[in-house]
Amino acid sequence: MKVGLLSESPADEAALRILLEALLGESVSVVQPPLRARGWPNVSQVLGPILWHLQFRTDAEALVVCVDADDSTVHEGDHGDPDAFHPKCRLCLLEMVIRKTRKRWKLPEGRRPLHTAVALAVPAVEGWYLAGRDPEVGEATWRADQAAGHHRYTRRDLKIRVYGTRRPTLEFETRRAQEEARRLAKDIALLETLFPVGFGYFARCVREWRREER
Ligand SMILES: [Zn+2]
Repeated sequence: MKVGLLSESPADEAALRILLEALLGESVSVVQPPLRARGWPNVSQVLGPILWHLQFRTDAEALVVCVDADDSTVHEGDHGDPDAFHPKCRLCLLEMVIRKTRKRWKLPEGRRPLHTAVALAVPAVEGWYLAGRDPEVGEATWRADQAAGHHRYTRRDLKIRVYGTRRPTLEFETRRAQEEARRLAKDIALLETLFPVGFGYFARCVREWRREER
């Protein structure tokens, strides 16, 4: 399947591709978007133009977007439902950008709308890489700590636990991301269990693609 990936770094995209292939059960060829994003809110700013480009200028079939939650609100509910919109939830914000962008165009006859799936790594993608290795990580602990106002681990701690340093080289970060993604690809349910909102929503979106094609 031909897919565009939009995320905060090329290392994240390397991992995302492996996880996406595990969810789809087929290999993915990446269609390179014309713009790269660097962090939040840049991803939300380039999302509309990238969606348009992939839809009208390439033969991509889908776009996957993944961002870190950082300290933002992790809302529960259907982020694709305008009635359940939460203004501080990054999943809801990205889905809103997708809806608004699509409203502005009319597709030519026979061109199928791009499938989309949005993922939110809580609080950062390194949390996913530690799933099953570090009993502290997961959305439940992060959210409980957020409510209590005291975190037992920070995003910096997660980086050190994954890379051994806060500032890995891109090459090392990518290699570690791919190693952990390959491990998780064999047990994708583990990520859905530990990260039911941010990863679970993404997995449900991807599984919907098949239904949308019928
Ligand atoms: Zn939301």
